[in-house]
Amino acid sequence: MPAKVYYDKDADLALLKNKTIAILGYGSQGHGHAQNLRDSGCNVIIAELPGTANHDQAVKDGFEPLSAAEATKKADIITILLPDEIQADVFRAEVRDNLSPGNVLVCAHGFNVHFNQFEIPQGVAAILVAPKGPGHLVRAEYVKGGGVPCLIGLGPGADDSSRGIALAYAKGIGGARAGVIETTFAEEVETDLFGEQVVLCGGVSALIKAGYETLVEAGYQPEMAYFECMHEVKLIVDLLYQGGLNYMRYSISNTAEYGDYTRGPRIITDETKAEMKKILGEIQKGEFAREWILENKAGAPSFKALRRLEREHGIEAVGRQLRRLMPWIDAKEV
Ligand code: NDP
Ligand code: MG
Repeated sequence: MPAKVYYDKDADLALLKNKTIAILGYGSQGHGHAQNLRDSGCNVIIAELPGTANHDQAVKDGFEPLSAAEATKKADIITILLPDEIQADVFRAEVRDNLSPGNVLVCAHGFNVHFNQFEIPQGVAAILVAPKGPGHLVRAEYVKGGGVPCLIGLGPGADDSSRGIALAYAKGIGGARAGVIETTFAEEVETDLFGEQVVLCGGVSALIKAGYETLVEAGYQPEMAYFECMHEVKLIVDLLYQGGLNYMRYSISNTAEYGDYTRGPRIITDETKAEMKKILGEIQKGEFAREWILENKAGAPSFKALRRLEREHGIEAVGRQLRRLMPWIDAKEV
């Protein structure tokens, strides 16, 4: 059954009137939510760490940032837009004991609520309002009169009246101009982790590296391997984004299309799909969450080592040089 889509007419901004909304963290999502809600007529306060670039940005944008504890104390609706891996510590240290009954806790990603990293006090409702795009797009589309589609969900302590708040919040950040779909914390978290691990980040990176290595090991020039296996991914993804698989296949050559149908299934095989199911199981059972939470508690030793090793892959050095030849691609380096 296709999901019900809510729009501006289904959401009532009056539910946010006379309420103070605290945005904890003025990063990617935080700056977008805060400015959009303020422009929608809401009373918004900010929490940021003094001495950081995002603190300065919040001041420049006309806010007077507080600590997370102070902002939580003053607000009725508290949105946690801190990096996911530090949310639990900040929640315990600054947020939990400053929440009062009737408060609403908003998340833009359900990880910490779903995997029980927050102990939500009695009388507090946890809801999800998750824009399906980065914060700069949430802001830019709003300013243009549009919005980024949002997911909403009801978590611990939430009821039908919380759905009204979630819809009003989504309207306040511009999401209901585009469309709002209701999900659950479990569905949002599990599909998000699965997508990034199996397709978007893990799957795509592994596919690119394996293709590059195969060509280079066979004696082809690394530059050729880079163009074919990394650079041109963008051309294909742009077509997929605009018109799905069919439009992509309509735009490429018949030779490429025939190769797609006949060779693709030999790369992503039944064995690959069985591994995808295993990864999904690890996500559903909380095994991935446990691993990632413990990894962070230990100071992220594996994460940092993997990051360093991956940066040393040959494709990165070749790519860096080739991107310099193409000023129009706006090459990035971190
Ligand atoms: P960012 O890392 O961009 O921003 C987090 C901000 O919080 C930073 O400015 C950080 O400061 C600040 N901060 C860190 N610690 C504290 C503290 N103790 N008190 C106050 N501020 C603090 O995060 P995102 O916007 O990417 O992510 C926020 C949430 O939104 C996450 O739950 C994420 O999953 C979700 N989300 C993100 C999307 C995205 O595209 N980015 C899309 C949809 C959801 P500093 O940088 O100085 O450390
Ligand atoms: Mg994601």
